[in-house]
Amino acid sequence: MFRKVWSFTLFMCSTAAIASTSPNSPTPPDSIPDGAAKLMAVYPQQVKGYEGGCLLMADGTRIVYDDGREKDFITMLDNSDPEDMFSMTYDRTAAVPAYLSDAGRSRCEQLFKCMYGKNAQEAQKRFTRVAWFGQQLQFTTVNGAADSLRAVARDMARHPELVKYMKQASTFYWRKVRGAQRQSAHSYGIAIDINTSLSNYWLWSNPGAGELDRLKYENRVPAEVVNIFERHGFIWGGRWYHYDTMHFEFRPEFL
Ligand SMILES: [Zn+2]
Repeated sequence: MFRKVWSFTLFMCSTAAIASTSPNSPTPPDSIPDGAAKLMAVYPQQVKGYEGGCLLMADGTRIVYDDGREKDFITMLDNSDPEDMFSMTYDRTAAVPAYLSDAGRSRCEQLFKCMYGKNAQEAQKRFTRVAWFGQQLQFTTVNGAADSLRAVARDMARHPELVKYMKQASTFYWRKVRGAQRQSAHSYGIAIDINTSLSNYWLWSNPGAGELDRLKYENRVPAEVVNIFERHGFIWGGRWYHYDTMHFEFRPEFL
């Protein structure tokens, strides 16, 4: 019986897994890729395991971890598997992000839709409201994201000089990324844009630039704002080469 289940798993998952795994034994724990282990650790309610080259999701979905395809930068953003998400390091030390260093900008759409909802209605069913400096923001309850945003609000409130950056925030829109076919993180209720009038965006400062062009970096968001968000599992768009300094996203796998 076990052997049959195993064969089925191999059939469903990547050929890379077939080549690298003995058919006589289940995947030993030490062969779980670091990225897959990280996803299991930070999203334990959603990512239940790893077997035969696939992430095993709570609803029974199997997601191929590595599709084995070589991808250029744009393809990696538009068509990311879970393995591609970890191809860039989230660098918290660089004063200015390195060329094409965009850790977190590539998201495996199958994984995110499986965790947070495959359409707007499904995503919204999992939302709650978070009190945010005079606003009520919609955020997902999945993976504890809303609770993490509440923790950010509590810490931020201890710094009255930072509150102006929190005003006119926005969270949920079900939409594609500007100029691209991939779904925005705002679709899932895991991202917040803080005050745009105190923020910078790579295309505003470099009008007409393409993804591969050299960019001039600009930022006005104080380091303490970033520290508080990162402490609670949010990455910052200001650490991307294609910077988006208003943007914070619940991605504890990078922190
Ligand atoms: Zn954003």
